[in-house]
Amino acid sequence: MEYAEHVTDLVGDTPLVRLGALSEGMEPLVLAKVEYFNPGGSVKDRIALRMVEAAERSGELVPGGTIVEPTSGNTGVGLAMFAQRRGYRCVFVCPDKVSEDKRNVLKAYGAEVVVCPTAVPPEHPDSYYNVSDRLVTEIPGAWKPNQYANVENPASHYATTGPELWKQTEGRITHFVAGIGTGGTISGTGRYLKEVSGGRVKIIGADPVGSVYSGGTGRPYLVEGVGEDFWPTTYDREICDEIIAVSDGDSFDVTRRLAREEALLVGGSCGMAAAAALEVARREGPDAVIVVLLPDGGRGYLSKVFDDSWMASYGFLSPDHAGATVGDVL
Ligand code: PMP
Repeated sequence: MEYAEHVTDLVGDTPLVRLGALSEGMEPLVLAKVEYFNPGGSVKDRIALRMVEAAERSGELVPGGTIVEPTSGNTGVGLAMFAQRRGYRCVFVCPDKVSEDKRNVLKAYGAEVVVCPTAVPPEHPDSYYNVSDRLVTEIPGAWKPNQYANVENPASHYATTGPELWKQTEGRITHFVAGIGTGGTISGTGRYLKEVSGGRVKIIGADPVGSVYSGGTGRPYLVEGVGEDFWPTTYDREICDEIIAVSDGDSFDVTRRLAREEALLVGGSCGMAAAAALEVARREGPDAVIVVLLPDGGRGYLSKVFDDSWMASYGFLSPDHAGATVGDVL
């Protein structure tokens, strides 16, 4: 019989899928690493697994302990899955821009969720970074993985995502494109790919307009999970050959196209990364093999990027992007 002992044993080894429709008319091969195939539905299962195992080994996380983490949802899901298997309690701190759907997912796995305002600076006592710090000191046996500073975050991608891409493309990958949140994905995967290819693979970061990585000040943007208003230590500032800033409008436009034209129902940061990958594809030739990492699925964003009135309320919906509505001739 073929079965997994537990669903958390199925993290990683996600497939590559060609973005044939979106890259039509472009010369390179454009492939997507589809991370929603992970059991928790996102790329963050990879770091959750490695951070928890390392904390158990170091004794920071002890039986009966509590995991406390500021997370926009995906890291929380991964942590909640491992916590459930190993008997830990989970308390997650989310900014209020994170959709209620996503917060309910965390609760469904048995975690507790604390919501904090987005529109305060990181040093404010109510910022989600500070609230989580306070909870760690107040809860006995609390351990904060701190994905923004945990070396196991980029290390998990160095150990898994990078080697998977090298093997899946038979060493032919020429460009790796990913969004930057903590920077763990791009730094770990990028370092592996640079090392194994002798520096040949180009690493391209995608970043929301306004975020610090692309030269902004951290001005609020709507795309979730990427961009920062500070420089986390998990991000290797030397890793990117180029950083492409993508507007919310372009990110959401490509997100909707991924669902409609590629049947890939994915989140807004996926559209952002894919928009950057298409920009690279437009200027490269037939030998280029461009891989873009799509961090999560789109079900957590149905009331946002996939909702026409939400899109229209921000002025994103042009007639080209609008769905058919009642009264249209179909
Ligand atoms: N997209 C989404 C939806 C995310 O949750 C994250 C993680 N914050 C990222 C992209 C960015 O990944 P990383 O933190 O590894 O840079």
